Amino acid sequence: MSTPIEISDVVIVGAGLAGCAAAKECREAGLKTIVLTKLHPLRSHSGAAQGGINAALNEESALSHEFDTVKGGDYLGDQDAVKLLTDKAPETIRWLERMGAVFSRREDGTIAQRPFGGQSVARACYAKDRTGLTCLQTIYEQATRAGVDFRAEWFVGDLLYEAQTRRAYGVVAYNLATLEFRIFNAKAILFATGGYARAYAINSNAHCNTGDGLSIFARRNLPLEDMEFVQFHPTGLANNGILISEAARGEGGRLYNGLGERFMERYAPAKLELAPRDVVSRAIEQEIAQGRGVGENKDAIWLDLTHLETAIIEERLPELRDLALTFQGRDLAKERIAIRATAHYSMGGIPTDIRSRVRATRHALSIGLYAAGECACVSVHGANRLGANSLLEAVLFGRIAGETIVRDLPTILLRHAFPRDGDRFRSEVQTLLKNGGSESVAALRTRLQESMTAHAGIFRDRSSLEKMRTIVSEIRAGFAAIRLGDKSSAFNTELMEALELGHMIDYAALIVEGALAREESRGAHYRDDFPERNDKQFLKHTFGTIDTDGAVSLSYAPVTIIRHQPQARTY
Ligand SMILES: Cc1cc2nc3c(=O)[nH]c(=O)nc-3n(C[C@H](O)[C@H](O)[C@H](O)COP(=O)(O)OP(=O)(O)OC[C@H]3O[C@@H](n4cnc5c(N)ncnc54)[C@H](O)[C@@H]3O)c2cc1C
Repeated sequence: MSTPIEISDVVIVGAGLAGCAAAKECREAGLKTIVLTKLHPLRSHSGAAQGGINAALNEESALSHEFDTVKGGDYLGDQDAVKLLTDKAPETIRWLERMGAVFSRREDGTIAQRPFGGQSVARACYAKDRTGLTCLQTIYEQATRAGVDFRAEWFVGDLLYEAQTRRAYGVVAYNLATLEFRIFNAKAILFATGGYARAYAINSNAHCNTGDGLSIFARRNLPLEDMEFVQFHPTGLANNGILISEAARGEGGRLYNGLGERFMERYAPAKLELAPRDVVSRAIEQEIAQGRGVGENKDAIWLDLTHLETAIIEERLPELRDLALTFQGRDLAKERIAIRATAHYSMGGIPTDIRSRVRATRHALSIGLYAAGECACVSVHGANRLGANSLLEAVLFGRIAGETIVRDLPTILLRHAFPRDGDRFRSEVQTLLKNGGSESVAALRTRLQESMTAHAGIFRDRSSLEKMRTIVSEIRAGFAAIRLGDKSSAFNTELMEALELGHMIDYAALIVEGALAREESRGAHYRDDFPERNDKQFLKHTFGTIDTDGAVSLSYAPVTIIRHQPQARTY
């Protein structure tokens, strides 16, 4: 097979905040920059972010933001990365503002900030409850103005990577509208493909958050880091997982169980509803498991905002009110809404150094290969991300990735791609289109998602994870016998969903094996059979690789600890 080749300086996969920020930096330095995205840039999941973006502004020192982040992450975050994130946060807000992002203000004209879980002060800057969209529109506009070449509706399925030299030199993609394949050959490749919570049945993520970038890397035998750490957000709408932002609790929202108790008093007496997400999510699920839920099946918890003035809700939470009204038929200004925890965010991902360069192994960096945003694991969030730190990570490390590429590029010679470099991805697609098996994409995906929620969710133990290991193998076998009803070339969404499912199976295996091996509870990873944190054995990052049969190998890397020694984590 012969696939056409297009050459540029830089190829970026993903047009969320991280991809757009990096693209703007590269293009402004004069580099020919192509951004490939399976969706229109403004439909990237970044645009769904509601609550806020953290920065220590005014009198506050970045050190307290740094400490909250390290403690929130249960001491698994690398402290050089956390320091960079929190030191550069105020500058990142100013960068966004100078470009035209309009943040909500206080009466005196300064940027307003709201409290978020696990933070010692009100630190989240916001634009009503549409913070992500405001930032994304602004950066996308400016990247377009700079001349970035955005290619929407291109699906990337393979990375061109030479293991011997640890050198990346392009990606293979097809146009969703036509099934036309192309190799994008470049000196620098950045992945900014977002998160992977779609592996779970109840989740807050856009349909596209299927972790493609991660499995594309894993299939090139590159390691993924800390995949067992999946964040569950406390407040998804009970009926469908759609997110009700932490801003609701930041503005004063309270949680009640079926007995009318404000149960967080028992779990986090000092912080109550504003304890970190892992703590609140576990409390919610525990109340439900012990029969104190609300609703017909007692499988939800009340989130109550009715004591807030309607004017405040209208001014600061209009989007949330709309969501609850549309998707649960309840006006949160007047009645309580039913919520439960929802899979939300991936702490794990593609390992990088603090300049966004991808680690090809635990000890060696790759050449010409970068990752930023939610798909990357720097790791700033450790075992549990604090709310409003992720938009910050995506914007800041997107910029850093762009700056690093600009700096590295003069030292990188273009390695030319060959027309046959597209064969691997093309034959994956051809096999799916031709397969005459009996399995359907939707049925396999539903089984994967429901089992991940049941067996590798908020609470896990050896037996649930071993069960999930078996289910992943069964689904992998089923995937080989998949049959697509749609064989067409134009906008074949079934084909795309099949490719996404293939990715979900691979990284689900890495989540399960990482979780099985980590016999402790830390941040979002909670083992019923090992309820305590065990720093002696597990204060370390997991590195996982997967072979073509789906067998996972694990190794471990030390955590960078500088200023903050691990302590008991209470709130
Ligand atoms: C509902 C919701 C609310 C949130 N609220 C907040 C908040 O208030 N504060 C906060 O800090 N964080 C929040 N987060 C988290 C935060 O929004 C994300 O972590 C962050 O925006 C991720 O940005 P990104 O650029 O890494 O990825 P994304 O914005 O997810 O973009 C990923 C891009 O990759 C592209 N892509 C993926 N796979 C492929 C492929 N195979 N081929 C081509 N293109 C591909 C997609 O098209 C997309 O353009 C929220 C998340 C959700 C789901």
